Parts: sequence; structure tokens; C-alpha cells
Amino acid sequence: MDAGQWDIIEGGKMSSNNEVPKYGLLTASTPEEAVSLLTQYGEQARIMSGGTDLLYLMKNGVVSKTPQYVVDISGLPLNYVNYSASDGLRIGATTPIATIASDPNIAQYYAVLSQAAATVAAPQIRNQGTAAGDVIQDTWCWYLRNNYPCWQNGGNVCYGVLGDNRYYQSIFGGRLTFAVNPGDTPVAYYALDAEVTVQGPGGSSTMPISQLLPGEAIVGGIVKENSLQHNEMITEIHVPPPPANSMSAWYKVRARQSFDFALASAAAVLTFNGSTISHASLVLGGVDVAPHRATAAESYLVGNTLTTTTIQEAAAKAVADAEPLTTGTGNSFRVFLAQGAVSKALTLLS
Ligand SMILES: Cc1cc2nc3c(=O)[nH]c(=O)nc-3n(C[C@H](O)[C@H](O)[C@H](O)COP(=O)(O)OP(=O)(O)OC[C@H]3O[C@@H](n4cnc5c(N)ncnc54)[C@H](O)[C@@H]3O)c2cc1C
Repeated sequence: MDAGQWDIIEGGKMSSNNEVPKYGLLTASTPEEAVSLLTQYGEQARIMSGGTDLLYLMKNGVVSKTPQYVVDISGLPLNYVNYSASDGLRIGATTPIATIASDPNIAQYYAVLSQAAATVAAPQIRNQGTAAGDVIQDTWCWYLRNNYPCWQNGGNVCYGVLGDNRYYQSIFGGRLTFAVNPGDTPVAYYALDAEVTVQGPGGSSTMPISQLLPGEAIVGGIVKENSLQHNEMITEIHVPPPPANSMSAWYKVRARQSFDFALASAAAVLTFNGSTISHASLVLGGVDVAPHRATAAESYLVGNTLTTTTIQEAAAKAVADAEPLTTGTGNSFRVFLAQGAVSKALTLLS
């Protein structure tokens, strides 16, 4: 097939030959050039960094995610980790996840991020997958991945609500789409109040990760989990310096311990005044359409010390407003997994 031509794919069916369709490969040597190519080729072009998510979607023939042109950014000079006490942490967009997991400064000052990165997928994917790719990856809801015409694939239904929603659907509700945000490192970035630098046609700007991942954004008529325009790219992730006397921890529950997406996870960043918690940041992963800030639990923790009782109470508060699905298979069992993940993460800090 020529670039731009591939099989017409019916909903729920994968591409007939299960091969990546031919595409035009465009190589960028600067972020500005990447944005210029994305602008020039419009909605038919998408960035490829490590390719572990994008090529998977293309191989499965997922209609709305299969571009005619791929803008390869893997050669850009964005593979770096810089840390300083005054500025905090700066991670280039194409830095491998494995580098984040093994960097000594990240391990020392941002344990939650180091631990979250170490639980992403398997070593091969951590070596190939990149910092920005883990943040922007599409949901792994099996209805999207198998090309059902769902909201995120140009249709107007969330099959997850109706069907098998045990693993990939929110337990905290949704609007159009109920598919969970799948990334592990974004949960840690949320808890650490990270921001991203975005290169667009008008130049470079920054936005909080919560604005980048709002849960549901309609961009170019398609429902997405991130708010990037088609001709914008992330160049850097910035995490502020850790507050004095703070500690952080991560806990992830998954079906296969060797590699798997989170059934539930928790990222906790606590600041202490003596043994009393003076600030709490607590974010759940794998259970909502975006990383889920557990505000009631955060408020409860401030002013308390970490004891078995307060940990259990905080974990209960973290899921008190859960609304697990009761249609289809239902997914209420993950409320207990989320509660357990919070309890485990806080216990690691006690
Ligand atoms: C078997 C398997 C298991 C997995 N398990 C986990 C897991 O347990 N936890 C987890 O967190 N993830 C998991 N993943 C997902 C994996 O982490 C992602 O596929 C990977 O991080 C994506 O990075 P990439 O560089 O390969 O992205 P690509 O595939 O190159 O791109 C992914 C998406 O991000 C966009 N993109 C990439 N870079 C940029 C940028 N700089 N600016 C704007 N957009 C960009 C692309 O256009 C594309 O839409 C798993 C994947 C597989 C295949």
C-alpha cells in the first residue's frame, strides 16, 4: 500500500494483515522543525518518539490514531536529566523511562518518580519508551486498542461502560469516556506538581501537568485524554525542588507483577514538621480518566502523624467518593485495590 492508503477497518476488527500500515516518515532535527512539520501535514501527522505506543495502535489499525505521516523526534537533543537544588528536576522529552528509573538524583530527591518509572512495563519498553511518551500515551482500554468506534476513536459510545470494564475503566466516573489514564509516571508528576514545556507554532510555553491531562479534552473533534493541539509537542518536564523535610513513595497494584498496567496505584508526597504532617500530596493512578488527587485524604493527613489508624483513615477517605461502574461487568473490586495502594504507600513513609 502507498502512504496514506490502508484497509477500511470495521469497528472491533483489527487491520486485516496485522501489520503497521505504510506511512511517510518525517524527521525533525529541532522542536521548531517538528512543530512546523506537524503544522504543514495537519491532522494526518503525529509525533513518534520511542514508538512503543504509536506503532502498537497503528499495527492494530486503530482508525483515529493511525496517521499518514510520522514525525520522528527521537534524534532531537532532548535526552537529558538535569537536577539542581535551586531549580529542581528537568527531564527532556525523549529521555528513556529507564533513565528516569535509574537516575541517582531522582532516586534521592524524587523517590516516588523513580519508583513509578521502575514499575512501567518491562525493561525493553522502559529502554525504548520516553518521558513524554509515557505522559501522552493513549489509553490501553481494550475497546480502543481493538478499534471499536468509541468516543476516542471517532464514535459516540463508551463500550467500557456497557461491557467488560474490570481493568481499564474509571471507578471515579467519567463524562463521555470512562477509560483510565494508563501512565505510571504521570501519577508521580501530579503528586510532585510538575509542569511541562510545550512547543507550539507560537513558541514555547509551560502548563501544569493537571492542565495537560484534564481527563477529557475535545481536540480537533476527537475526544482525547490530553489537551495538546495536533501541532504541539512536549519538550521538557520540570519538577520543582522538593520541600525541606519531605518524603515520597509509590505503590502499584497490577495483575502480573512482571509487567502490567496499574489496576490501582498511589503516589504520596508528605512534608513533615517534626513527626506532624504539614503538607500532603496524594494521587491515585489507574482508577480515573486522569491521575486522581485524593483531596479529602490530603486534608485529613495535614496536622496528623502517620500511625496505623491515620493511614487506614486516610486510605478510606481517598476512595470515599468512588463511583465504581455497576453496568457491564462492574469494577468495584478496584476500589479496595486503590484503598490498599494508598495504605501501602503511606506505610512506606511511616
Ligand atoms: C506491553 C506494554 C506494557 C506497558 N505497560 C505500561 C505500564 O505498566 N505503565 C505505563 O505507564 N506504561 C506502560 N506502557 C506504555 C508505555 O510506557 C508507553 O508505550 C511509552 O511510554 C510511550 O513512549 P514512547 O516514547 O514509545 O511513545 P510513542 O509511542 O512514540 O508516542 C506515544 C504517544 O505520545 C505522543 N508523543 C510522544 N512524544 C511526544 C512529545 N514529546 N510531545 C507530544 N506528544 C508526544 C505520540 O504522538 C503518541 O501519541 C506499556 C506499553 C506496552 C506496549
